[in-house]
Amino acid sequence: MTFRSGDQVGFVGWRGMVGSVLMQRMQEEGDFAGITPVFFSTSSAGRPAPSFAGDAGVLQDAYDLECLASLPVIVTAQGGDYTKAVHGELRARGWDGLWIDAASTLRMNDDAIIVLDPVNRDVIDRGLEAGVKDFVGGNCTVSCLLVGLGGLFRNDLVEWATSMTYQAASGGGARHMREVLTQFGALHGAVADELADPASAILEIDRKVLEAQRGDALDSSMFGAPLSGSLIPWIDADLGNGQSREEWKSAAETNKILGRTDRFAQDWVPMDGLCVRIATMRSHSQALTLKLREDLPVEEIERIIDADNEWATVVPNTKEDTMRALTPVATSGTLQIPVGRIRKLAMGPGYISAFTIGDQLLWGAAEPLRRMLRIATGTL
Ligand code: NAP
Repeated sequence: MTFRSGDQVGFVGWRGMVGSVLMQRMQEEGDFAGITPVFFSTSSAGRPAPSFAGDAGVLQDAYDLECLASLPVIVTAQGGDYTKAVHGELRARGWDGLWIDAASTLRMNDDAIIVLDPVNRDVIDRGLEAGVKDFVGGNCTVSCLLVGLGGLFRNDLVEWATSMTYQAASGGGARHMREVLTQFGALHGAVADELADPASAILEIDRKVLEAQRGDALDSSMFGAPLSGSLIPWIDADLGNGQSREEWKSAAETNKILGRTDRFAQDWVPMDGLCVRIATMRSHSQALTLKLREDLPVEEIERIIDADNEWATVVPNTKEDTMRALTPVATSGTLQIPVGRIRKLAMGPGYISAFTIGDQLLWGAAEPLRRMLRIATGTL
């Protein structure tokens, strides 16, 4: 199927966390102008479709394979279970449209490309020309890392890297974000009287908060453990070897995005670390240790990072600049990927630290998909 201006594009998962941000960005960039959107739902087929893209009629059933197969492009941010349930069936029916997906299900398939065009536009273009049909957004932390530090990776300056992450509640989805706020509300409620009284004992406040966090009344059904006022040092599945799937993704996806597929080759970059969920609303942060292949001056490292793309921004390594520009609050809702705390480490020549933050719903999820749709429809 070849896409022509005005052709239909199916959207599944448009009201979820990633989908909402995708819809918002598409409206901001006027992306609906060249397409005819068809909106799907797994739960509300038949209800009115959203009005922000003109009159799109009613929501179609996201499991209606016949309807899906009539479309040249499907964009889904519905999640991995949906991809598993539908994608294979569609392909088995001979559907040869483009499948653009936020879920990880297809990412490591040989015939799928992980899309992050500021870093791998060449890989995407070659794939389209070769007839690749599945284009998948990368893991949020990996994509934000590569937009921020792409200059070092693309210039083959990184020998290895560790990433210790601080990942936001919204990484789990819309319901997780609600849960973390509800928990904060409940914790505040447990000590509201004491907080209003400046003379109340802080240890009593602390005791009551802990009691509320450990009690049955706090709803932790989404995260599985209280997150507000705490953290969870495990994200995604247990691979059984001590590593979480989220941690495994860093090396596997980074190298695949860079077009490096042989883990025994010279250019493969070993990466590992620990992934931690924290109670921030939005934007994933990561503390990095990088071993560079050359002992470059910090000014040169900063220049390479800054020059790589229009979104990577070096934050000077001072307390004032860090507090002003290197926080999730400063970064959320923007496409900028600040990279700061760059300094040489005591371990020896070539060892540097860096701290980077990216809005994982933008560069970590919606933006690569939005741009892939523009590339596929010939407008980027
Ligand atoms: P999500 O917010 O849970 O949304 C997924 C679906 O849940 C929606 O499309 C909607 O489907 C349904 N839903 C049920 N109750 C809802 C409610 N109260 N509000 C909104 N939607 C509700 O999931 P997500 O975080 O967007 O993730 C989608 C995919 O993107 C996943 O594969 C995820 O791994 C991937 N991803 C997520 C992030 C992130 O930061 N969140 C980053 C990168 C990739 P119906 O309309 O059909 O009911």
